Amino acid sequence: MPELPEVETIRRQLSEYLPLKIRSVEYSPVVGSILKEREFSPRNKTLLSIDRKGKMLIFNLNDDLHFISHLGMSGGWIISEQKITINHTHFQLSGIGKGSRTLYLAYVDPRRFGNLYFLKRVNAQKRIDALGVDVATKEFTKKYLEQLIERFPNKILKPFLLDQKYFAGIGNYLASEICAHAGILPFRQLSSLNRADATQLIKATKKSLNFALKAQGTTFAGGYRDASGERGEGVKNLVVFYQDCCRLCNKNRVVKTQLGGRGTYHCPKCQQ
Ligand SMILES: [Zn+2]
Repeated sequence: MPELPEVETIRRQLSEYLPLKIRSVEYSPVVGSILKEREFSPRNKTLLSIDRKGKMLIFNLNDDLHFISHLGMSGGWIISEQKITINHTHFQLSGIGKGSRTLYLAYVDPRRFGNLYFLKRVNAQKRIDALGVDVATKEFTKKYLEQLIERFPNKILKPFLLDQKYFAGIGNYLASEICAHAGILPFRQLSSLNRADATQLIKATKKSLNFALKAQGTTFAGGYRDASGERGEGVKNLVVFYQDCCRLCNKNRVVKTQLGGRGTYHCPKCQQ
């Protein structure tokens, strides 16, 4: 499932082709299960830039119009100079990009858990504002984390890290990796964390994000592809998630548990 590094990789790749003057738009017969709201038609609009908040992509068009895109389990955006004909292409626009090139931009989603919205500014902003602090921004500070620890003492660390209202961008693999790099067990209660732990969690988040971004995202079996259809190499950086042996100590077996219904991985020696 695409998390912050995968979504950011796609954003950076697509941004190099912009602006894109949209000439035509095609939809698959089942696009209605993904395209939830359509406040305008993108035809003859210009795609100017793409922002990201957490795992949400925000495509900015002229006239204060936006596509809001959540990739869900298996969604992705592909850009190409040829028409995109791969299976599960649900939305495709063509137009003229930077350097007067004809370009095709498509949303592809085999499992169709992704969501797409074509919204005017007011409704787009509502969706953006519903997300908490993006963990890749300067607003994600030790002070912010300490306030949350104080406010939610009974929450369990790893499931709490998945709450997009507070930690926009963190998903299941990042949450396990952050706990590992911080040296903190994923099932610790927030009330048990001290100031040093908060510092470690901030550092571990930056480290995990940087590793994954440098690798152009993390692809698991059958999963995420970047905007040119390539796999991300982030799996090679994982220290506990999907690992048998902990790659921090290279000694102890990783323990897999279920926390909040999600597969969770930790090293019983490196994490306390
Ligand atoms: Zn270890």
